[in-house]
Amino acid sequence: MAAVSPILSPSINPHAIDSPARLTDSHGRVIHDLRVSITDNCNYKCVYCRTGEVGAQFPELQIEEYLRLIRLFVSLGITKVRLTGGEPLLRRGLVEMVEELARLRTLAGQPLDLAITTNGHLLESLAAPLKAAGLHRATVSMDAVDAPTFERITRVPGSFNKVLRGIRAARAAGLTPLKVNCVLLRGFNDDQIEAFAHFARRENVVVRFIEFMPLEEGRLWTPEIVVPLAEIVARIGRVLPLVELPPREAGETARRYGFADGQGEIGIIAPVTQAFCGACSRLRLTSDGKIRTCLFSQVEHDLYGRLRAGEADAELRAYILRTVQGKEARHHIGEPGFLKPSRSMVHIGG
Ligand code: SAM
Repeated sequence: MAAVSPILSPSINPHAIDSPARLTDSHGRVIHDLRVSITDNCNYKCVYCRTGEVGAQFPELQIEEYLRLIRLFVSLGITKVRLTGGEPLLRRGLVEMVEELARLRTLAGQPLDLAITTNGHLLESLAAPLKAAGLHRATVSMDAVDAPTFERITRVPGSFNKVLRGIRAARAAGLTPLKVNCVLLRGFNDDQIEAFAHFARRENVVVRFIEFMPLEEGRLWTPEIVVPLAEIVARIGRVLPLVELPPREAGETARRYGFADGQGEIGIIAPVTQAFCGACSRLRLTSDGKIRTCLFSQVEHDLYGRLRAGEADAELRAYILRTVQGKEARHHIGEPGFLKPSRSMVHIGG
C-alpha cells in the first residue's frame, strides 16, 4: 500500500482519551481480545484450508498502520493481541512490531498479553528474537505427528522437521505455555489423535484439537467430517485416562483436560458441537484493515478505509464502538440456510 506517514500518529497514548469507553456488544459481552492478520500470504497450502490454486488475495497494511489501529483498540479496552495471518512469520518487520506492542499498556496500566499463531515453519530462528522483543506465547498449528502425513497436508516437503524444530525452539525461548493446534478431519487425520496425546507429553506442549469449521477455500466441509469433542475425549481416555480441568479464564475457547497421572494437558476447541459464542470476547482485524466481529460475519467494516480518508482517532474509536454493537449473537454452522463467509480462514486470520 502507498506510504501514509502523514496520517500516522504512533505517539498516541491509549490513556489520553476523553471518556474511556469499553468495548461491549449489544449482547453484554465485553470484548478484550483482538486478532490481527498481518499478512494474507501463507507458505503452506494445507489441503483442508486452501485449494492450492490461489495465493494472497488481500493487501497488507504497513506495520505502522497496524500499530495505529491496534492502539485505538487498546484505548477501548483490548488487553490481548494475537498476531496471525496468512502466516505471520513471513511478515517483514514482525519483530519490531512486537517490540512496539510490548510498549503498549492496557487501560489498567498492564502490558498487553501478546501471542502469535503460526505454522512454525520459520519459528526456529525467530522464536528467540520474538521472545526478546516481548512476545509472551505462541500457538503452532500442526495437523499430524508423522512426517509423511504432515507433508501431505501442508504440501511442503521437509515441513514436518522444520515445524518440530520450531516448536522446540519456541519452548526453549520460553514462549510458553506453548500450544500446538490440530484441526481434525474424519478419514483424513483422525488416526493421529492418540499419537498427539503422547506427543503432548513427550514434547511438553498443550495439544489442542479443533473441530473443523466451514471456512475452507474449497467445499470440503460436511457435518460428517467433523470429529466431535466427545469422540476425541473418549478415544484418548482409552489409552491415557483424562480428567477435566477448570477453565483458566471466562470465555476460554478450549475445554481443558489433564492426564490423570498429572503429566501434561490437552484442550479441545469445539465450535461446531459445543459452540462458545455466548462467551466470545473476540474481534478480528484482517490484513487489509477490516474489522470482522465474527469468523462467520457476512459483512466487514472498513476501519482502514476511514483511517485513509483522514478520520481522527476520536471518530475511528466511535466507529469501532458502533461496529462492536453489531457483533453477531452466534454462528449458524450446520443450520439450514447457513452461509459461508466471503473470506476463508486463511484470509480472515485464524
Ligand atoms: N498460518 C498460521 C497457522 O498456520 O497457524 C495462522 C493462520 S491459520 C489460518 C490459523 C489456524 O486456523 C490454523 O491452526 C489452522 O489449522 C486453522 N484452520 C484453518 N482452516 C480451518 C477450518 N476450516 N476450521 C478450523 N480451523 C481451521
